[in-house]
Formats: sequence, structure tokens, C-alpha cells
Amino acid sequence: MTRTRTAVVVGGGIAGPVAALALRRAGIEAAVHESHTATADGIGGGLGVAPNGRAALDLVGLGRVGAPMNAIVLQNHKGRTITEIRQPMEFSWRADLYRRLYDLALSEGVAVHHGHELVDVRESATGVRAVFADGTTSEEADVLIGADGLRSTVRRLIDPRAPQPRYSGLLGFGARVEGAGLPPTGDRMYMAFGRRAFFGYQSFDDGTGVWFANLPHPYLTWQQVRQTSNEQWLHRLGEAFAGDTVPALDLLRRTPPEDLLAVGPMEDLPHVPHWHRGRAVLVGDSAHATSPSSGQGVSLAAESAVELARALRDLPYPQAFATYEHARRARVERVIAQGARSNTGKTAGPVGRVVRDALLPLFARLATPEKMAWQYDHRIRWEDPVAA
Ligand SMILES: Cc1cc2nc3c(=O)[nH]c(=O)nc-3n(C[C@H](O)[C@H](O)[C@H](O)COP(=O)(O)OP(=O)(O)OC[C@H]3O[C@@H](n4cnc5c(N)ncnc54)[C@H](O)[C@@H]3O)c2cc1C
Repeated sequence: MTRTRTAVVVGGGIAGPVAALALRRAGIEAAVHESHTATADGIGGGLGVAPNGRAALDLVGLGRVGAPMNAIVLQNHKGRTITEIRQPMEFSWRADLYRRLYDLALSEGVAVHHGHELVDVRESATGVRAVFADGTTSEEADVLIGADGLRSTVRRLIDPRAPQPRYSGLLGFGARVEGAGLPPTGDRMYMAFGRRAFFGYQSFDDGTGVWFANLPHPYLTWQQVRQTSNEQWLHRLGEAFAGDTVPALDLLRRTPPEDLLAVGPMEDLPHVPHWHRGRAVLVGDSAHATSPSSGQGVSLAAESAVELARALRDLPYPQAFATYEHARRARVERVIAQGARSNTGKTAGPVGRVVRDALLPLFARLATPEKMAWQYDHRIRWEDPVAA
């Protein structure tokens, strides 16, 4: 079997452009096809990039994007610090990270096509094509990479019985605030377990700040979240934090309704049984979406994109797909499980809160750099040959 020379990448979010850049580095030509008709500038909330993700992004030539966030201070609803966890992260707006990756991909010669919503995959003996909603198709390529996110169509085409995303019980909200009115928190992000919801914030030297909230709520789709006005959501969040001694109410008051980001339901995908079939393979959230609480969504997506390109560089695609999945599955599912566990503390009732607050310092002591090394110190050795 000959080596892979061309790839169709479906999805121009984070994993798609990283995969295209890594594939080019591996000598494989890749074009990206994105369903949205325009770029995703200004869309999305804040994201963490962990050191392992930073290292993967470095491999495709993307330098630092966000602000350093080297510690998380966990507090209870009275504002009492329960514990502080040192973890070197980068805080970035999804829109900034996306734009930097998009510009980098274009500057490296990657073609990015908008308005190409994949609806089917057509495979032949010689290659594979993406079929789009308007009836057109992509060029034929050796492989097709589904980087089409949490609600991936490629995943469903690979396996019609693939699992649906799992809801954590939390809706996500956030905002960037011009005048935060708080002393700068330096490189620390404060996170508080309120009595009815979870709150995080960081304030900077220039007077600006960011906050996010996780609100326990029955499941709503993103579209259903949008049916409630931002004023009403701000009001409901205010009710959720009433009586808590954290700066939530102040920051909510300083957030103009038009600046509220309703991120939507927080979901994950604990186990996707089939990551590939024939010439099609999944990467990023389509294969292994983790709850935002893990702080690893972007980082795992970037790692997987680079590992997939590395495998395709050295092996014919059937072995490359199997080797890539073998290298990635245990790691990503472990991170997803950890992210899901951190969500349970955010939805605790009155008794659960007491237990949680008592146990958190213990967990924090266990989250030493040595204990977390499996997650943060993971590095991809790009130059090493990949064996099947
Ligand atoms: C607009 C947007 C905003 C986000 N904001 C946040 C946030 O605030 N906080 C957070 O933690 N995570 C956010 N995420 C998710 C986060 O980007 C991902 O968890 C992570 O970066 C993994 O990236 P991904 O590329 O695998 O998936 P995504 O970033 O979801 O990208 C998938 C891309 O595929 C495209 N796509 C989907 N279906 C098709 C199709 N059939 N044909 C062609 N293209 C398709 C989508 O439009 C999207 O651009 C957001 C995702 C999106 C799309």
C-alpha cells in the first residue's frame, strides 16, 4: 500500500487547522472544509491551554496566544480559600486561538473552504470525497479526517450507532468585563463553589476581567438557551449567587447583557467505540470530547491532530489509523473521566458540599506536579518514527 499524499479535513475549528498544519509538516497536502459560511471570529468563551497542548501547538508553529494562568484558587461560597492548585496553564479566548490558527493555516498555504457542510462520505478504490449539503464534493483524497466537533457527522457515518454527547447537568456562561472593579488576581484564577452554582474569575492589571459560571440546569440545547434573553440569564445567575460571598454578583452587574456569552450545555463523550472506518478517521471533539471542566479540550484535540499526522507520515493509512487510536485512546478517556468527576462537585447538594469542602484540600494535595505529570508533561516526539 502506498503512503498518504492528500487529505480532506472536515471542520475548521481547532483540531481541523492543527491537523492540516501537522499534515503539511508530514508532507501530506490537506484542505479544510468548514460548514459555517463565515469565520468564527468573536464566538465562544474562554479556554485553558495546558502545557501538553501548548507543546503540541508549538509543533505546528503556533506560539503563545493567551495569558498565563499558573494557579487555581478554590473557594467555598463564603469566599474562604479551600485550597490552591498550582498548574501552569494559558487562558485564551476561543476566538483568539481560532483566529491565530486560521491565519497560520492560510499563511502556510492550507486552503480553507467555508459553507461546505459535509453530509456524506463517498469512498472508492482510489480515494475518498466529502459530499456537501449543496450537492458538490471535495477533491478526491487518500484520507478524510473528521474534525467536525462534538456533534460530528463523520462520527455518525463511521458508526451510525455511535453514542450521543452526555450532558453534565451544567449550562456554561461567561463574559469579558471592561471595568472589573477588582484588584488584579495576577496569574491566578479564582474558582468558587457557590451554594447553587459554580463561579470562576480572573482580573488583570489593565482593569479588565473575565468570569465564567456553571449553572446546574435541566438539559437545554444551545438553541434553547438562546431563546431566553441575556438579561434573563444574568438575572437567573444573580439569583443563583445571591447570598454567596464571592464577587459573582458584582461582576454580573458589570456585564452588559450584550456581552454575555451563553456557551450552552456542558457535554462530553466518554467512549466512542469506532474512531475510523475505511479511509475516514476522527480527531478532536468528534472522537473524544471532554467537559470544559477538565481544561484539556483544546490540548487533547491538538495532541491527537499531531499524532494522527505523525502516524500517516510513517504508515499506510489502515495501520496509521489503528496505531493512532491505540496511542491516544487510554489517555484521552482518562482525562475525560477526570473532567466528569470535577463536574460532580459543582452540582453537590447541602450534604455533598460539606463532604466536598472537607475532601478538596486532600485532592489538591494529591494533585501535585508529580501526580499530574501524566497529563501535563505528555510530549509528542515528532521526529521519532512511528511503528505499527
Ligand atoms: C463556535 C465554537 C465556540 C466554542 N466555544 C467554546 C468555549 O467557549 N469554551 C470551550 O471550552 N469550548 C468551546 N468550544 C469547543 C472547543 O473549541 C473544542 O472543545 C475544542 O477546541 C476541540 O476542537 P474541535 O476542533 O475538535 O471542535 P470544534 O472547535 O467544535 O470545531 C468543529 C468545527 O467543525 C465544524 N463542523 C461541524 N459539523 C460540520 C460538518 N458537517 N461539515 C463541515 N464542518 C462541520 C464546526 O462548525 C466547527 O467549526 C467551541 C466550539 C465552537 C465550534
